Amino acid sequence: MRKDVAIIGGGVVGLVLARGLARAGIDVTLYEAKRAIGEGANKASGILSIGGLEGIGVDYRKAVLNSLSGAVLHAGKQKLSIKAKKPMAYVLDREIFAKLCAKEAKEAGARIIVGTKVDGGMLSWLSESGVVVGADGVISTVASHFDFPKIDDYVLTYKAEYSGADINDVNSCDLFFSDAPKKFFGWTCPYSSSVLEVGIGEWMRSRRNSLAVFNAFVRNPIVSKWLRGATKISGRASIIPLQSRKTTVKGNVLLVGDAAGQVKATTGGGIVFGTLCAKTAAEVIASHIRKGTPLAAYEKLWRKKYGLDLRMHKFIHRYYSNIGIGGSALLFRLAKLAGMENFLSEYGDMDRPSLVLKRLFVR
Ligand SMILES: Cc1cc2nc3c(=O)[nH]c(=O)nc-3n(C[C@H](O)[C@H](O)[C@H](O)COP(=O)(O)OP(=O)(O)OC[C@H]3O[C@@H](n4cnc5c(N)ncnc54)[C@H](O)[C@@H]3O)c2cc1C
Repeated sequence: MRKDVAIIGGGVVGLVLARGLARAGIDVTLYEAKRAIGEGANKASGILSIGGLEGIGVDYRKAVLNSLSGAVLHAGKQKLSIKAKKPMAYVLDREIFAKLCAKEAKEAGARIIVGTKVDGGMLSWLSESGVVVGADGVISTVASHFDFPKIDDYVLTYKAEYSGADINDVNSCDLFFSDAPKKFFGWTCPYSSSVLEVGIGEWMRSRRNSLAVFNAFVRNPIVSKWLRGATKISGRASIIPLQSRKTTVKGNVLLVGDAAGQVKATTGGGIVFGTLCAKTAAEVIASHIRKGTPLAAYEKLWRKKYGLDLRMHKFIHRYYSNIGIGGSALLFRLAKLAGMENFLSEYGDMDRPSLVLKRLFVR
Protein backbone atom coordinates (compact mmCIF):
# COMPACT_ATOMS: atom_id res chain seq x y z
CA MET A 1 0.00 0.00 0.00
CA ARG A 2 1.31 3.48 -0.88
CA LYS A 3 1.97 5.65 2.16
CA ASP A 4 1.89 9.36 1.33
CA VAL A 5 3.65 10.65 4.44
CA ALA A 6 5.69 8.89 7.12
CA ILE A 7 6.44 10.89 10.28
CA ILE A 8 9.26 9.56 12.45
CA GLY A 9 8.73 10.52 16.10
CA GLY A 10 5.59 10.81 18.21
CA GLY A 11 6.52 13.80 20.35
CA VAL A 12 4.16 16.76 20.42
CA VAL A 13 5.57 18.22 17.19
CA GLY A 14 5.20 15.02 15.14
CA LEU A 15 1.70 14.50 16.53
CA VAL A 16 0.54 18.03 15.66
CA LEU A 17 1.92 17.52 12.16
CA ALA A 18 0.12 14.16 11.86
CA ARG A 19 -3.14 15.82 12.93
CA GLY A 20 -2.67 18.65 10.41
CA LEU A 21 -1.97 16.29 7.51
CA ALA A 22 -4.81 13.91 8.39
CA ARG A 23 -7.22 16.84 8.62
CA ALA A 24 -6.09 17.87 5.13
CA GLY A 25 -7.07 14.40 3.92
CA ILE A 26 -3.49 13.12 3.52
CA ASP A 27 -2.61 9.49 4.20
CA VAL A 28 -0.19 9.73 7.14
CA THR A 29 1.55 7.18 9.35
CA LEU A 30 3.52 8.16 12.44
CA TYR A 31 6.13 5.82 13.94
CA GLU A 32 7.13 6.17 17.60
CA ALA A 33 9.99 4.22 19.18
CA LYS A 34 8.55 4.16 22.71
CA ARG A 35 5.91 1.62 23.68
CA ALA A 36 3.41 4.38 24.43
CA ILE A 37 2.95 7.98 23.35
CA GLY A 38 4.12 10.34 26.11
CA GLU A 39 6.41 7.76 27.74
CA GLY A 40 9.40 9.62 29.22
CA ALA A 41 8.08 13.01 28.05
CA ASN A 42 8.28 14.45 31.57
CA LYS A 43 12.08 14.48 31.41
CA ALA A 44 11.41 17.92 29.88
CA SER A 45 9.36 20.70 31.43
CA GLY A 46 6.00 21.85 30.17
CA ILE A 47 5.98 25.62 30.61
CA LEU A 48 4.09 27.15 27.70
CA SER A 49 2.79 30.66 27.11
CA ILE A 50 -1.00 30.67 27.02
CA GLY A 51 -0.95 32.42 23.62
CA GLY A 52 1.42 29.77 22.27
CA LEU A 53 -0.74 26.95 23.61
CA GLU A 54 -3.90 28.41 22.09
CA GLY A 55 -2.04 28.60 18.76
CA ILE A 56 -1.32 24.85 18.85
CA GLY A 57 -5.07 24.33 18.97
CA VAL A 58 -5.01 21.06 20.95
CA ASP A 59 -7.44 20.84 23.87
CA TYR A 60 -4.75 20.91 26.59
CA ARG A 61 -6.97 21.51 29.61
CA LYS A 62 -6.59 18.01 31.13
CA ALA A 63 -2.78 18.41 31.11
CA VAL A 64 -2.63 21.67 33.12
CA LEU A 65 -0.82 21.32 36.46
CA ASN A 66 -0.48 25.00 37.35
CA SER A 67 -0.56 28.54 35.98
CA LEU A 68 2.23 31.12 36.15
CA SER A 69 1.81 34.88 36.28
CA GLY A 70 5.32 35.80 37.35
CA ALA A 71 9.01 35.04 37.22
CA VAL A 72 11.97 36.11 39.32
CA LEU A 73 15.35 36.28 37.59
CA HIS A 74 18.38 35.99 39.90
CA ALA A 75 21.96 37.03 39.13
CA GLY A 76 24.04 36.75 42.28
CA LYS A 77 22.20 38.91 44.82
CA GLN A 78 20.42 40.99 42.16
CA LYS A 79 16.83 40.12 41.26
CA LEU A 80 14.45 41.15 38.52
CA SER A 81 10.79 40.44 39.30
CA ILE A 82 8.11 40.18 36.65
CA LYS A 83 4.53 39.89 37.85
CA ALA A 84 1.63 40.09 35.41
CA LYS A 85 -1.94 40.77 36.49
CA LYS A 86 -3.18 37.53 34.91
CA PRO A 87 -1.61 34.12 34.11
CA MET A 88 0.95 34.25 31.29
CA ALA A 89 1.79 30.56 31.07
CA TYR A 90 0.61 27.11 32.03
CA VAL A 91 2.68 24.30 33.43
CA LEU A 92 1.64 21.09 31.67
CA ASP A 93 2.11 17.41 32.44
CA ARG A 94 4.03 16.55 29.26
CA GLU A 95 2.96 12.91 29.19
CA ILE A 96 -0.73 13.78 29.35
CA PHE A 97 -0.29 16.59 26.82
CA ALA A 98 1.33 14.20 24.30
CA LYS A 99 -1.53 11.74 24.79
CA LEU A 100 -4.08 14.50 24.15
CA CYS A 101 -2.22 15.44 20.93
CA ALA A 102 -2.22 11.76 19.87
CA LYS A 103 -5.97 11.49 20.51
CA GLU A 104 -6.67 14.43 18.19
CA ALA A 105 -4.28 13.08 15.52
CA LYS A 106 -6.00 9.67 15.61
CA GLU A 107 -9.47 11.22 15.52
CA ALA A 108 -8.39 13.13 12.42
CA GLY A 109 -7.44 9.83 10.76
CA ALA A 110 -3.66 9.54 11.31
CA ARG A 111 -2.20 6.05 11.87
CA ILE A 112 0.05 5.91 14.93
CA ILE A 113 2.39 2.93 15.32
CA VAL A 114 4.18 2.72 18.67
CA GLY A 115 7.11 0.53 19.70
CA THR A 116 8.84 0.91 16.31
CA LYS A 117 12.28 2.49 16.29
CA VAL A 118 12.84 3.46 12.68
CA ASP A 119 16.37 2.70 11.43
CA GLY A 120 18.36 3.55 8.31
CA GLY A 121 17.03 0.59 6.29
CA MET A 122 13.43 1.47 7.01
CA LEU A 123 14.09 5.17 6.24
CA SER A 124 15.47 4.30 2.81
CA TRP A 125 12.41 2.17 2.12
CA LEU A 126 9.94 4.80 3.39
CA SER A 127 11.60 7.58 1.38
CA GLU A 128 11.12 5.60 -1.83
CA SER A 129 7.35 5.62 -1.49
CA GLY A 130 6.51 9.09 -0.19
CA VAL A 131 7.44 12.08 1.94
CA VAL A 132 9.42 11.39 5.13
CA VAL A 133 9.42 13.82 8.06
CA GLY A 134 11.95 13.63 10.89
CA ALA A 135 10.19 14.72 14.08
CA ASP A 136 12.47 12.43 16.04
CA GLY A 137 13.95 14.94 18.45
CA VAL A 138 17.35 16.37 19.03
CA ILE A 139 19.37 13.19 18.30
CA SER A 140 17.64 12.69 14.98
CA THR A 141 18.18 9.42 13.11
CA VAL A 142 16.47 10.97 10.08
CA ALA A 143 18.88 13.94 10.05
CA SER A 144 21.95 11.73 10.30
CA HIS A 145 20.71 9.09 7.82
CA PHE A 146 19.98 11.72 5.15
CA ASP A 147 23.13 13.65 6.00
CA PHE A 148 21.58 16.97 7.09
CA PRO A 149 23.96 19.62 8.49
CA LYS A 150 24.80 18.98 12.15
CA ILE A 151 23.69 20.91 15.23
CA ASP A 152 26.78 21.45 17.33
CA ASP A 153 25.51 23.71 20.11
CA TYR A 154 23.59 21.95 22.89
CA VAL A 155 22.91 22.11 26.59
CA LEU A 156 22.72 19.01 28.74
CA THR A 157 19.94 19.20 31.31
CA TYR A 158 18.95 17.52 34.52
CA LYS A 159 15.46 18.02 35.91
CA ALA A 160 13.86 16.67 39.10
CA GLU A 161 10.63 16.96 41.07
CA TYR A 162 10.43 17.38 44.84
CA SER A 163 7.40 16.90 47.07
CA GLY A 164 7.04 18.67 50.41
CA ALA A 165 8.93 21.76 49.17
CA ASP A 166 8.51 25.12 50.83
CA ILE A 167 6.96 27.19 48.04
CA ASN A 168 6.74 30.93 48.41
CA ASP A 169 4.58 31.88 45.45
CA VAL A 170 2.85 29.01 43.70
CA ASN A 171 2.26 31.12 40.57
CA SER A 172 5.82 32.22 39.99
CA CYS A 173 8.95 30.47 38.69
CA ASP A 174 12.58 31.41 39.37
CA LEU A 175 15.55 31.50 37.00
CA PHE A 176 19.11 31.53 38.33
CA PHE A 177 21.89 32.94 36.14
CA SER A 178 25.46 32.57 37.29
CA ASP A 179 28.89 31.54 35.99
CA ALA A 180 28.00 27.94 36.70
CA PRO A 181 26.09 26.57 34.80
CA LYS A 182 27.78 27.74 31.63
CA LYS A 183 25.66 29.33 28.89
CA PHE A 184 22.35 28.40 30.49
CA PHE A 185 20.58 28.67 33.84
CA GLY A 186 18.98 26.84 36.72
CA TRP A 187 15.25 27.06 37.33
CA THR A 188 12.49 26.17 39.76
CA CYS A 189 8.84 25.87 38.82
CA PRO A 190 5.97 24.95 41.16
CA TYR A 191 3.40 22.34 40.12
CA SER A 192 1.31 22.93 43.24
CA SER A 193 1.72 24.40 46.73
CA SER A 194 4.12 21.56 47.67
CA VAL A 195 5.59 20.02 44.50
CA LEU A 196 8.52 21.88 42.97
CA GLU A 197 10.36 21.17 39.72
CA VAL A 198 14.05 22.01 39.86
CA GLY A 199 16.26 21.90 36.78
CA ILE A 200 19.46 23.10 35.25
CA GLY A 201 21.13 23.22 31.85
CA GLU A 202 24.86 23.10 31.25
CA TRP A 203 26.63 23.89 27.97
CA MET A 204 27.73 20.62 26.38
CA ARG A 205 31.23 21.83 25.57
CA SER A 206 32.04 22.54 29.19
CA ARG A 207 32.18 18.71 29.53
CA ARG A 208 30.70 18.67 33.01
CA ASN A 209 28.23 16.05 34.13
CA SER A 210 24.72 17.57 34.27
CA LEU A 211 23.82 15.65 37.46
CA ALA A 212 26.94 17.01 39.22
CA VAL A 213 26.00 20.54 38.10
CA PHE A 214 22.44 19.92 39.35
CA ASN A 215 23.69 18.65 42.74
CA ALA A 216 25.72 21.84 43.14
CA PHE A 217 22.68 23.93 42.15
CA VAL A 218 20.39 22.45 44.82
CA ARG A 219 22.97 23.54 47.41
CA ASN A 220 22.45 27.17 46.33
CA PRO A 221 21.28 29.00 49.54
CA ILE A 222 17.90 30.02 48.08
CA VAL A 223 17.04 26.67 46.46
CA SER A 224 18.28 24.58 49.40
CA LYS A 225 16.02 26.60 51.73
CA TRP A 226 12.97 25.76 49.58
CA LEU A 227 13.97 22.08 49.44
CA ARG A 228 14.70 21.61 53.15
CA GLY A 229 12.75 18.54 54.26
CA ALA A 230 11.50 17.86 50.70
CA THR A 231 11.72 14.45 48.98
CA LYS A 232 13.06 13.96 45.47
CA ILE A 233 10.39 12.06 43.54
CA SER A 234 12.12 11.70 40.17
CA GLY A 235 15.03 13.04 38.16
CA ARG A 236 16.13 12.71 34.53
CA ALA A 237 18.77 14.01 32.15
CA SER A 238 18.10 15.28 28.63
CA ILE A 239 19.38 17.55 25.85
CA ILE A 240 18.31 20.87 24.32
CA PRO A 241 19.58 22.11 20.94
CA LEU A 242 20.57 25.78 20.87
CA GLN A 243 20.52 26.37 17.12
CA SER A 244 18.53 25.41 14.07
CA ARG A 245 20.01 23.28 11.29
CA LYS A 246 21.23 25.14 8.21
CA THR A 247 19.01 22.97 6.02
CA THR A 248 15.70 21.35 6.96
CA VAL A 249 14.54 19.99 3.55
CA LYS A 250 16.40 17.59 1.27
CA GLY A 251 14.46 16.10 -1.64
CA ASN A 252 11.37 14.48 -0.11
CA VAL A 253 12.70 14.54 3.48
CA LEU A 254 11.85 17.31 5.97
CA LEU A 255 12.81 17.97 9.58
CA VAL A 256 10.57 19.62 12.23
CA GLY A 257 10.76 20.47 15.93
CA ASP A 258 13.89 19.63 17.90
CA ALA A 259 15.16 17.56 14.96
CA ALA A 260 15.33 20.84 13.00
CA GLY A 261 16.52 22.83 16.05
CA GLN A 262 13.41 25.08 16.02
CA VAL A 263 13.98 25.99 19.68
CA LYS A 264 14.20 29.26 21.63
CA ALA A 265 17.88 29.44 22.59
CA THR A 266 17.08 31.68 25.59
CA THR A 267 14.98 29.11 27.46
CA GLY A 268 15.20 25.88 25.46
CA GLY A 269 11.43 25.99 24.88
CA GLY A 270 10.69 24.21 21.62
CA ILE A 271 7.02 23.30 21.62
CA VAL A 272 5.50 26.57 20.43
CA PHE A 273 7.86 27.16 17.47
CA GLY A 274 8.16 23.43 16.71
CA THR A 275 4.38 23.06 16.39
CA LEU A 276 4.04 26.31 14.42
CA CYS A 277 6.64 24.96 11.98
CA ALA A 278 4.78 21.63 11.92
CA LYS A 279 1.66 23.47 10.81
CA THR A 280 3.64 25.14 8.03
CA ALA A 281 5.05 21.72 7.06
CA ALA A 282 1.52 20.26 6.93
CA GLU A 283 0.38 22.98 4.49
CA VAL A 284 3.44 22.60 2.26
CA ILE A 285 3.26 18.78 2.19
CA ALA A 286 -0.49 18.78 1.47
CA SER A 287 0.02 21.19 -1.42
CA HIS A 288 2.96 19.08 -2.69
CA ILE A 289 0.88 15.90 -2.70
CA ARG A 290 -2.18 17.51 -4.28
CA LYS A 291 -0.67 20.00 -6.69
CA GLY A 292 2.97 18.97 -7.02
CA THR A 293 4.32 22.24 -5.51
CA PRO A 294 7.93 21.97 -4.25
CA LEU A 295 8.64 20.82 -0.69
CA ALA A 296 11.51 23.32 -0.56
CA ALA A 297 8.85 25.98 0.16
CA TYR A 298 8.83 24.68 3.76
CA GLU A 299 12.37 25.92 4.38
CA LYS A 300 11.59 29.40 3.05
CA LEU A 301 8.23 29.70 4.78
CA TRP A 302 9.15 28.69 8.31
CA ARG A 303 12.26 30.86 8.27
CA LYS A 304 10.22 33.80 6.94
CA LYS A 305 7.53 33.42 9.62
CA TYR A 306 9.62 32.46 12.67
CA GLY A 307 13.28 32.91 11.73
CA LEU A 308 13.53 36.47 13.07
CA ASP A 309 12.26 35.55 16.54
CA LEU A 310 14.43 32.43 16.71
CA ARG A 311 17.47 34.51 15.70
CA MET A 312 16.60 37.10 18.35
CA HIS A 313 16.42 34.36 21.00
CA LYS A 314 19.84 33.20 19.81
CA PHE A 315 21.21 36.75 19.98
CA ILE A 316 19.87 37.31 23.54
CA HIS A 317 21.27 33.93 24.59
CA ARG A 318 24.69 34.75 23.19
CA TYR A 319 24.62 38.12 24.94
CA TYR A 320 23.78 36.83 28.42
CA SER A 321 26.13 33.88 28.02
CA ASN A 322 29.05 36.21 27.47
CA ILE A 323 28.56 38.88 30.12
CA GLY A 324 29.11 36.63 33.16
CA ILE A 325 27.51 36.95 36.58
CA GLY A 326 28.85 40.49 37.20
CA GLY A 327 27.50 41.64 33.83
CA SER A 328 24.09 40.04 34.47
CA ALA A 329 23.84 41.64 37.92
CA LEU A 330 24.68 45.05 36.43
CA LEU A 331 22.19 44.52 33.61
CA PHE A 332 19.45 43.67 36.12
CA ARG A 333 20.23 46.84 38.10
CA LEU A 334 20.05 48.97 34.97
CA ALA A 335 16.87 47.23 33.81
CA LYS A 336 15.26 47.95 37.19
CA LEU A 337 16.26 51.62 37.02
CA ALA A 338 14.82 51.83 33.51
CA GLY A 339 11.47 50.48 34.76
CA MET A 340 11.80 47.17 32.88
CA GLU A 341 10.13 45.19 35.67
CA ASN A 342 6.87 47.08 35.09
CA PHE A 343 7.28 47.08 31.33
CA LEU A 344 7.87 43.31 31.14
CA SER A 345 5.05 42.63 33.61
CA GLU A 346 2.70 44.42 31.25
CA TYR A 347 4.12 43.79 27.79
CA GLY A 348 6.43 40.76 28.13
CA ASP A 349 6.10 37.86 25.68
CA MET A 350 7.92 34.55 26.29
CA ASP A 351 7.95 33.61 22.63
CA ARG A 352 8.18 36.71 20.43
CA PRO A 353 11.06 39.07 21.38
CA SER A 354 10.32 41.00 18.16
CA LEU A 355 6.90 41.96 19.60
CA VAL A 356 8.46 43.03 22.92
CA LEU A 357 10.95 45.19 21.03
CA LYS A 358 8.17 46.80 18.99
CA ARG A 359 6.20 47.56 22.16
CA LEU A 360 9.34 49.02 23.73
CA PHE A 361 9.86 51.37 20.75
CA VAL A 362 6.20 52.41 20.85
CA ARG A 363 6.52 53.23 24.54
C1 LIG B 1 14.76 19.85 30.63
C2 LIG B 1 13.97 20.38 29.49
C3 LIG B 1 12.99 21.33 29.74
C4 LIG B 1 12.23 21.83 28.69
N1 LIG B 1 11.25 22.73 28.98
C5 LIG B 1 10.43 23.16 28.00
C6 LIG B 1 9.36 24.03 28.30
O1 LIG B 1 9.13 24.38 29.45
N2 LIG B 1 8.60 24.47 27.26
C7 LIG B 1 8.82 24.10 25.96
O2 LIG B 1 8.12 24.54 25.05
N3 LIG B 1 9.83 23.25 25.66
C8 LIG B 1 10.63 22.78 26.65
N4 LIG B 1 11.65 21.92 26.36
C9 LIG B 1 11.90 21.56 24.95
C10 LIG B 1 10.86 20.58 24.47
O3 LIG B 1 10.84 19.46 25.32
C11 LIG B 1 11.17 20.15 23.05
O4 LIG B 1 11.37 21.30 22.26
C12 LIG B 1 10.04 19.32 22.47
O5 LIG B 1 9.86 18.14 23.21
C13 LIG B 1 10.33 18.98 21.03
O6 LIG B 1 9.33 18.13 20.56
P1 LIG B 1 9.61 17.13 19.36
O7 LIG B 1 8.32 16.46 19.11
O8 LIG B 1 10.31 17.86 18.27
O9 LIG B 1 10.70 16.11 19.92
P2 LIG B 1 10.60 15.09 21.13
O10 LIG B 1 9.67 15.58 22.17
O11 LIG B 1 12.00 14.82 21.53
O12 LIG B 1 9.95 13.78 20.48
C14 LIG B 1 10.70 12.99 19.60
C15 LIG B 1 10.05 11.62 19.60
O13 LIG B 1 10.67 10.84 18.59
C16 LIG B 1 10.84 9.52 19.07
N5 LIG B 1 11.95 8.93 18.29
C17 LIG B 1 13.26 9.28 18.30
N6 LIG B 1 13.95 8.52 17.43
C18 LIG B 1 13.04 7.70 16.84
C19 LIG B 1 13.14 6.69 15.84
N7 LIG B 1 14.31 6.39 15.25
N8 LIG B 1 12.02 6.02 15.47
C20 LIG B 1 10.81 6.33 16.03
N9 LIG B 1 10.67 7.27 16.99
C21 LIG B 1 11.76 7.96 17.38
C22 LIG B 1 11.18 9.72 20.55
O14 LIG B 1 10.91 8.54 21.29
C23 LIG B 1 10.25 10.87 20.91
O15 LIG B 1 9.00 10.42 21.37
C24 LIG B 1 12.45 21.40 27.37
C25 LIG B 1 13.42 20.42 27.11
C26 LIG B 1 14.17 19.92 28.17
C27 LIG B 1 15.19 18.86 27.89
